[in-house]
Amino acid sequence: MRFSTEEILQPFHTTWLPADIQAATLRLDRIHPVVSGNKWFKLKYNLEAAAGRPVVTFGGAYSNHIIATAAACEMRGIPCTGIIRGEKPAVLSHTLQRAASLGMELVFVSREAYRLKDASAFPDAYMIPEGGHNALGAKGCGEILSLADTMGFSHIICAVGTGTMLAGLVNATERPVTGISVLKNATSLYEETQALLTSPETSNWTILHQFHEGGYGKTSPRLFAAMNDFYRQTGIPTDQVYTGKMVSAVQQLLEQSYFPPNSRLLLIHSGGLQGNDSLPPGVLCF
Ligand SMILES: *Cc1c(COP(=O)(O)O)cnc(C)c1O
Repeated sequence: MRFSTEEILQPFHTTWLPADIQAATLRLDRIHPVVSGNKWFKLKYNLEAAAGRPVVTFGGAYSNHIIATAAACEMRGIPCTGIIRGEKPAVLSHTLQRAASLGMELVFVSREAYRLKDASAFPDAYMIPEGGHNALGAKGCGEILSLADTMGFSHIICAVGTGTMLAGLVNATERPVTGISVLKNATSLYEETQALLTSPETSNWTILHQFHEGGYGKTSPRLFAAMNDFYRQTGIPTDQVYTGKMVSAVQQLLEQSYFPPNSRLLLIHSGGLQGNDSLPPGVLCF
């Protein structure tokens, strides 16, 4: 992949950005129409490790990881199976419809069975964990900051689900990295992220836990207002599960003077826009 810096690195201005702070987004949502965002990076070395074997992975009905795996496997001609949490619904979500049309076999399992993450029915397959959460996923995410010339930024900010991307970013830079957790009570997230660091004693990173808006996948009128406001001011669309919460968090952190004067903030736009398709029309202005 080769991109010009202008395509991927997008500076932005908003009314809530203090005059002495610069900011830009790294638009991972633009790198591929379907395998968008950080999932591209998490899959890269996992699909290499699959070495042509069929792939099996796990996810929920709206999972960015499921759709990304389906598309990436289709591009490489690798058969893949998605083990999906919960009984098969009468109407499949957009995400699952698209994954199926890309050739992914969908296997629905009860929530209890899903928790076991059991892929033993596929003994010949290469198993990618839910969300691409493993060392190879983090290794791929270590390449995110090399997509464009990001050296001039003083602070990196990203949304955090499993912590795989956060770990990859921390492995790739000595600059401070702030992760915005989209989960409620994610007490094990710190250790899980640390386990993927090449230098586990590194301390240039933090996870903030107060911006989840009620928990994973939960939304609020304030979140939608922040996403719409950000789009109107910058033209940059965000998703309701991850990047919208990150942008809303950055706005609130700036109000609290969290970042020192003259900071140059790089917000990782990790993709996920397909998830907005499940919203009723009119909630978002984009
Ligand atoms: C999966 C995902 C994340 C979270 O990445 P982790 O490595 O699991 O922390 C963030 N943003 C988007 C859009 C995602 O799809």
